[in-house]
Amino acid sequence: MTFENKLAFAQSQDQQDPLRHLREEFLFPKQNGAPFIYLCGNSLGLQPRTARNYVDQQLNNWENLAVEGWFEGETPWMYYHKELKSLMAHIVGAHPQEVCPMNTLTVNLHLLMVSFYRPTPGRFKIIMEAGAFPSDQYAMESQVRFHGYDPKDAIIEVAPRAGEATLRTEDILAVIAANSEQLALVLFGGINYFTGQWFDMPAITTAGHNAGAVVGFDLAHAAGNVPLQLHEWNIDFACWCSYKYQNAGPGGISGIFVHEKHFADTSLNRFAGWWGYQEQQRFKMEKGFMAEAGADGWQVSCTQVIPMALYHASLKIFEKAGFLGPLREKSLRLTAYLRYLIGEINSTLGFEQYKIITPSAATESGAQLSIIAKYNAREIFHALVANNILGDWREPDVIRLSPIPLYNSFEDVFLTAERLLHISKELITPKQ
Ligand SMILES: *Cc1c(COP(=O)(O)O)cnc(C)c1O
Repeated sequence: MTFENKLAFAQSQDQQDPLRHLREEFLFPKQNGAPFIYLCGNSLGLQPRTARNYVDQQLNNWENLAVEGWFEGETPWMYYHKELKSLMAHIVGAHPQEVCPMNTLTVNLHLLMVSFYRPTPGRFKIIMEAGAFPSDQYAMESQVRFHGYDPKDAIIEVAPRAGEATLRTEDILAVIAANSEQLALVLFGGINYFTGQWFDMPAITTAGHNAGAVVGFDLAHAAGNVPLQLHEWNIDFACWCSYKYQNAGPGGISGIFVHEKHFADTSLNRFAGWWGYQEQQRFKMEKGFMAEAGADGWQVSCTQVIPMALYHASLKIFEKAGFLGPLREKSLRLTAYLRYLIGEINSTLGFEQYKIITPSAATESGAQLSIIAKYNAREIFHALVANNILGDWREPDVIRLSPIPLYNSFEDVFLTAERLLHISKELITPKQ
């Protein structure tokens, strides 16, 4: 890819972008009357313009049908999740019956570990990435303790080598192989929230299985960002949130994936609830839990119609885009353009003020760039916000910027770099 550090170049890229109109489907926050350049979709995706209509439709059903809404109306609540399942299946590369919208992410991590972390005195260890999102660390530690083991003995974290920011696949695979005798579970992020590194999910899955372990992924930063093939990669289970790359709103509903090879396994533990009961018999209200077939059998509580309506609005935009094929193509170019322009800023400044720790290979990264700012990191981040650029900040010195192919443009990326250079000159040069 050849890029130019010129506004006209960015604008010509936008003119050639077949997805450029999707931007109009989203609502941008404003400051002092001007919209932000929003590069924070890794944390909270923007609101689809249609979200309000989708919610309104359900509020109308509630108003007009009340309890009859469960079985009547255009989208009876009893079956509403099925409309989402077929769309979610495209996002993560699964069969519709392998996915289900339910609960929130950390809750689902726990529920899936109930089924898929079944430690024995001989096989009780979990391998995860060092520096995983804290909620995942807490979930795994508490599951380990729940089963009577000590996290210090049971949890093995794979860390980057000294002086490196990201993990080497060979090191992950080596740790898995070295622990094969006692390994119960490999539970990794798909993309690490801090570094933006996309792990080699198929290789980790194969290695985990060869070691006799179950393999699951937390896809909070991967689902809706990079193309996934959960079924084909033979991953055992996964879950994700919908409010980051999938724009379903704060606290949005989570999704789970359970590979179909596990559907017939009646030995799996579940924390059961009535909504996981066989759909046709559910309202007989009988004693003795019988799971619905597929991922739906992991549901616990009554389906969450309003959060699903929000997720639905966004998934329909993904459908319009043609899902992750076209989106990823644009995403690769957008993020590569940002990477190129950061390099230009360093050249103009004459030193490496900005160090991108996110791997550059397309197979190892998504939309996000994690950038260490050498001097005045915090001041620079605040100056970006003051200049209407919203990324996010991670202690101690990392600025995360994520151009999102659904709603960011090449011009957004150009203007971000232009303002960042200006800010850098103002804030750093006097202190050189
Ligand atoms: C965002 C994120 C979470 C958040 O979990 P919630 O239960 O939705 O609050 C958990 N894990 C990872 C890896 C995340 O990126």
